[in-house]
Amino acid sequence: MNKCSLCGRHGNEVDLMFSGVSGNVCSDCIERGYEILKEEKKRNSKSGNKAIKLQKPIQIKKFLDQYVIGQEYAKKVLSVAVYNHYKRILQPDTDDVEIEKSNIIMVGETGTGKTLLARTIAKMLNVPFAIVDATVLTEAGYVGEDVESLLVRLLQDADYDIKAAERGIVFIDEIDKISRKSDNPSITRDVSGEGVQQGLLKLLEGSIVNVPPQGGRKHPEQRMIAVDTKNILFICGGAFEGIDRIIAKRLNTQVVGYGAHKKSEQIDKNNLLQYVLPDDLRKFGLIPEIVGRLPVLAYLNPLDRTALRRILIEPKNSIIKQYIKLFKMDNIKLSFTDDALDFIVDQAVNFKLGARGLRAICESIMLEAMFEMPSKKLEEFVVDKEYAQQKMNINSVLKFKNAG
Ligand code: ADP
Repeated sequence: MNKCSLCGRHGNEVDLMFSGVSGNVCSDCIERGYEILKEEKKRNSKSGNKAIKLQKPIQIKKFLDQYVIGQEYAKKVLSVAVYNHYKRILQPDTDDVEIEKSNIIMVGETGTGKTLLARTIAKMLNVPFAIVDATVLTEAGYVGEDVESLLVRLLQDADYDIKAAERGIVFIDEIDKISRKSDNPSITRDVSGEGVQQGLLKLLEGSIVNVPPQGGRKHPEQRMIAVDTKNILFICGGAFEGIDRIIAKRLNTQVVGYGAHKKSEQIDKNNLLQYVLPDDLRKFGLIPEIVGRLPVLAYLNPLDRTALRRILIEPKNSIIKQYIKLFKMDNIKLSFTDDALDFIVDQAVNFKLGARGLRAICESIMLEAMFEMPSKKLEEFVVDKEYAQQKMNINSVLKFKNAG
């Protein structure tokens, strides 16, 4: 009888019937089986049960080099911290020397590559990864999100595979925005500051946290998911605007003080962040316990003209490479002249748009070409300085700069 051995339907009820040695399978069952297999594969690839491919720090940095320009110090620090973190996870339980968790804090101006670094690390490790913004968090009982909701994104990225999520990476952006505002006496209840930091502490330390599966506020009737944060790597990032003054003050006293190691002329005043110490973060407004739970401190350098130009063309998926690929799909060989690239960088510098602005500037320059070229029979298209100058519309750049 021509009947599917799995669902039992007859040949005339399905599109196609495959006959085997001792039975038949219909096309619907094959399709459904394929979907399940695909889901399972995806799940396994991120699963906590699967052995994590542990790369050595030098390999981790090499991988980062492909995507992140400059930031040598931060890349080195991150490579070592991530390597140690995963060694810690993989260590045998029997050992009595416990390696402590090495959560990371990155300090650097906005748009210098903090998120990119965290994202690239996660890509390499193929573990669940979530980016969350600290500014949406408020103390329990206030409007906003509970600290536990940070883990919802991670669970989502892990397809709710709790084991996988428990080995994931959470990037908490704008950690500086939940600083204690002790200098503001009008705030009687510090809703967005110290209370949130206390909540965060619990997560960073490693504890079992009840996460509302849908995020947002916890409801008493909602079923919670228990997540152990012991092995989750937290990477925090923040611009810490104004911390340079705290650093400068400290360095100054050191220079003046007896036994100072650094002579004032040796200090690079244009990039004070490189001297940042955990105590500066405390003075900025992070509670000492949080600072203590973020033992790995890395700084990022401001991006100069040379770095911006390299960002435009060098990374594996650089903006320019992406345009070239897009045009190639229409069989058009796209290229940019050197002075066009210089022009783009100049605009980013002049308007203080940083790396984030590069894409907005390129989009503005390329819009018309992207609109017209696919309909034209053209083999080659060269963007030179004149063309870039003519097409760039600063208003649209400023409008879109925060979107990228
Ligand atoms: P941050 O988190 O420090 O504010 P991002 O990592 O989000 O900055 O950077 C914004 C964008 O700028 C990124 O998407 C990336 O394209 C680009 N970018 C910034 N810094 C670098 C860098 N060092 N190397 C390559 N691209 C960078």
